[in-house]
Amino acid sequence: MKQFQIAYIDKDTFQEELIALKKQCEKEQKDHLFFQVYSSILEEEPIAALCKVLEEVFPDALYMGCSTSGNIVDCQVAADITVVCTIFEKEDTQIKILQYDANVLSMEEITREVVEKTKQEPWVKAVELFCTVPENSTMQFCVGLKDLRPEIQIFGGISCSRDITSSDSMVFSKDGGYATRAVVLILYGGTHFYVEAFKMTGWKPLGRKFHVTKSEGRILRELDGIPAYEVYRKYLKIRNDDNFFYHTLEFPMFYEHNGTTILRVPVASNPDNSITMSSDIEENSIVRISYGDPATIIESIKAERERLQDFQPDLLHIFSCAARRTFWTSEDPTYELYPLKEIAPSSGFFSHGEFLRTKGNLNQHNVTLVIAAMREGDKDAGYRRNSVQERRLSKVPLVSRFANFISATSLELEEMNQQLAEMNEQLKRTSITDGLTGLYNRKEIQSRIREALNRIQEEPFAIVMMDIDNFKQVNDTYGHQEGDNVIIALAKILQNSDVLKASSFSAGRWGGEEFMLLLPDCDIHQAGEVAERIRECFANTTFQQAHTMTVSLGVSQAGGDDTLDALLVRVDEALYHAKQTGKNKVVVS
Ligand code: GH3
Ligand code: MG
Ligand code: MG
Repeated sequence: MKQFQIAYIDKDTFQEELIALKKQCEKEQKDHLFFQVYSSILEEEPIAALCKVLEEVFPDALYMGCSTSGNIVDCQVAADITVVCTIFEKEDTQIKILQYDANVLSMEEITREVVEKTKQEPWVKAVELFCTVPENSTMQFCVGLKDLRPEIQIFGGISCSRDITSSDSMVFSKDGGYATRAVVLILYGGTHFYVEAFKMTGWKPLGRKFHVTKSEGRILRELDGIPAYEVYRKYLKIRNDDNFFYHTLEFPMFYEHNGTTILRVPVASNPDNSITMSSDIEENSIVRISYGDPATIIESIKAERERLQDFQPDLLHIFSCAARRTFWTSEDPTYELYPLKEIAPSSGFFSHGEFLRTKGNLNQHNVTLVIAAMREGDKDAGYRRNSVQERRLSKVPLVSRFANFISATSLELEEMNQQLAEMNEQLKRTSITDGLTGLYNRKEIQSRIREALNRIQEEPFAIVMMDIDNFKQVNDTYGHQEGDNVIIALAKILQNSDVLKASSFSAGRWGGEEFMLLLPDCDIHQAGEVAERIRECFANTTFQQAHTMTVSLGVSQAGGDDTLDALLVRVDEALYHAKQTGKNKVVVS
């Protein structure tokens, strides 16, 4: 593959240059080519003039283009309108350009058509896409393209305008024409065509995690239950003013999605302290603030350079977030691309968002550099990486060390917090339960009965009080341990919903070998049946030394004007009556 580029100045000059290119192609017998046009000028008129010339000089050639926030050729800023001609060397390399109008078709319909089209074209190995700035999100679009054959690489960018915060944008192609709400795709493939797309950011996560507790599309409302802007104010002291975007650019949100990391920049802070993000972050995501430090970014791009080199690309297509251009204004808009200059000729643009398929899922990124490396033919076996030998020891930037320190400290704090929360939970449990049986303790079951009395008008309830018969004898004859075994056995029955068959219940240890059961939504008759089942089940339980034991039970239903004391006296009297009249029985008051 080869690449020629022409800076478009006016149609006459363009025509001359195109004719010269055509002559050269004819001389070299190369007619397998197509054009990509990158334009930071949005108006239809110059684009229409350009297309007309293209079609006159190269009537058979396909072309596609989009609006941009600046253009890139060979890792440097290129002309406002840049025309890139890609020439294929292999006969069987194929391309196909598709354009869909989003005014006519929904995102679902568009992605369904693309999936169908690629099914009919088994040669397709990659899809490069340009789309105009979406009204809400590209989520549906990304989800829809998940169904493309898994081996197809997908990469591309959202078209942009000079003003990165504006949603004005356009795409065009030979068949589809100029459109302000549309998607253009180019399918690449063939036996000798190879492509691999990479993602680089260089932004690193910083400090503690935040839970996205409220978000709607691009509006990030709350983090950890507080207005999202408060996080930027509290942790970074960034003011809620006109410069908000500029300041937050160094600190976008970082999160994991579909097994990859995604960045989102806060674009504007709103009067209600919510934040409008560059694209959506799903509710319930766990996000962290990230930081962009020039030295760290350059180091991470250098680290990726060898992977790119090893692919031995013929050329590179670059989609760089317009936010990165803004970030590097103190240097040069393409400063970070310099390490990639020697690898292969390149072209691309500053985009509103970047697309990359990772692990089968298409994701839309922000603040990201997506680079597609393309090659025709096999790799050169004798290839030696012309690795730029850097004499100086590559040094980890100080900022990066600080950020690591903060992240490690936050992680420790998060773990400690987790332990504290677990201990707190445990403490809560032990403060309301009985150590021997695990049932509620007396204080808790009594407070539950009191609460039930407060709600008696809405929900009737009954209580059952019980006391093990002749228990003292067990202790006296077989020892305290066997006594404990008997107590635990009865407690187990009180936790067994198969025995109780009540829709809900609370069981507590009232003291010694006495227990209390609260049965919400139970009338006296039903409660009597529950008590009878407990009595029977306990009587049928056998113990190693004590063999069999019995229990006596009193049952009472709460009345509308009951006090706690009156209810407890009544149930106690019922139990006393059971004891007096022979034990091992249920008495209903
Ligand atoms: P009744 O049939 O009239 O209920 O006779 P009882 O022997 O069961 O009654 P009493 O109230 O005299 O005996 C209760 C005994 O329970 C007295 C106390 O030592 C014993 N006890 C209290 N708590 C525990 C405990 O946690 N474990 C054991 N093993 N015994 C306990
Ligand atoms: Mg007792
Ligand atoms: Mg007893």
